[in-house]
Amino acid sequence: MFQVKLPTVQRLLYTTAVTICVCMALTRVAAAQPSEHPTADLLSELIRIDTSNPPGNEARIAEFLAERLGPAGFEIRIVPTPQPGKAHFIARLKGDGSKRAVLLAAHADVVGVEREKWTIDPFAGVIRDGYVWGRGAIDFKGGLAVFTQAVTRLAREHVPLHRDVILVAEADEESGRYNTSWLADSNWSLIDCEFALNEGGWIIKNDDGRVQYVSISTADKRSIPLIVTATGTSTHSSMPTPDNPILTLSRALAKLADFETPLELTAGTREFFATLAKTSSPPLSTNLNTLLNGTDPKQVREADREISQNPLLHALARNTIAPVILKAGFRGNVIPGSAQATLNVRLIPGTDFEALVSSIRRVINDDRVDVSLARPNTPEGARAAALLKQTASLKPSPKDTVLYRALERSAHSIWPERPVTTYLFQAGTDAIAWRSRGIPVYGIYPYPITAEDLKRMHGNDERVLIQSLEQGTELIFKTLVALQSE
Ligand SMILES: [Zn+2]
Repeated sequence: MFQVKLPTVQRLLYTTAVTICVCMALTRVAAAQPSEHPTADLLSELIRIDTSNPPGNEARIAEFLAERLGPAGFEIRIVPTPQPGKAHFIARLKGDGSKRAVLLAAHADVVGVEREKWTIDPFAGVIRDGYVWGRGAIDFKGGLAVFTQAVTRLAREHVPLHRDVILVAEADEESGRYNTSWLADSNWSLIDCEFALNEGGWIIKNDDGRVQYVSISTADKRSIPLIVTATGTSTHSSMPTPDNPILTLSRALAKLADFETPLELTAGTREFFATLAKTSSPPLSTNLNTLLNGTDPKQVREADREISQNPLLHALARNTIAPVILKAGFRGNVIPGSAQATLNVRLIPGTDFEALVSSIRRVINDDRVDVSLARPNTPEGARAAALLKQTASLKPSPKDTVLYRALERSAHSIWPERPVTTYLFQAGTDAIAWRSRGIPVYGIYPYPITAEDLKRMHGNDERVLIQSLEQGTELIFKTLVALQSE
């Protein structure tokens, strides 16, 4: 961790450069004008810093933001991790200390790309056709740009602050071990706050350009790996035996393919489904209403089946189980003694995990097949055990906080009459570092987006609308201002 100051050499170079370039000053006047789309321009710059993780190289984002926010009046801390080039960035705008801090968290790393499938350079920060294009445009450099721009505006306009405003650009959200949980364990005092914003819910836009609803996540599903191991007789493959573990495992997986976990609608998901019902048309609206209010179990099952055709809605309504890795066999003429599958289980917080594992065992119903967590003496096993412990006690963030209300009011002022709803985020986020310590975290991707564009997240030709970025900045700025008076 260290305080960032512009190095003397750098200042010297800067002064020299300014002197030399006086003759070019006139041509620079246009560039010095405030940008029409500052958030989009900032996002473009962030995308050009390639932070594909692994390895991440998030320290480059930290240095970039330090140079921007330091001179704007923020206290800057960069927390290096044991991995070279990987660091967390923390900028604090001081308030008068009469209220506890509000924190905005955005991860600085992105997932990698299949470059040949992109029609543009994913790391060029292209601005074209009303969009900013590139890896991380949606997830979550767009959010980092919005949060940075909103807090910069607070500083620039000298908004009187009762609370410190903390901006965190995080490392290792997409993968790796030096994530916000590591940061929280090693430097909690730097990120302690009353409540926080991070990624999560969506501001969904219809094809006609109107915002359909604003969703704010108050809980995240958690990802737990479960190992299924079939055992049998290892022997010469010229004399096959019926207990070939590859066949046993295949049968077990086939049974799981036909198994549907029961509906588990949290209060947040109920509110979200009710909002979706109000803002969509039949048959979706009818099915959602039946799912929420139906009394005939057969009709509810049928509605569930229809709704579950949509993988997102399916995932919100229950714990899910997906086989993701198979390991079996090592020679073309040997029947192996065991075969293994990893299931990725996505849990709704509060789920009785043991009961879920028991139901999986019951479905497989084969004593040659073992279903269990990875062994606790392996890194995966230790991680899974720790996650489960955290997940069991996780509570959704409450709606009755000044931050949630401020966000809701700001959203209504920008998109009048559009409903704002809580949301269970279908994946895990870095929110756990705060939520597991009882601090409310609200998730939002702060830019209106169509379902079509959403498919590009972690995919190809990721992009976000310039107009959405600027609206999102307005949303977050207004929220932060409103917070100061409460
Ligand atoms: Zn993300």
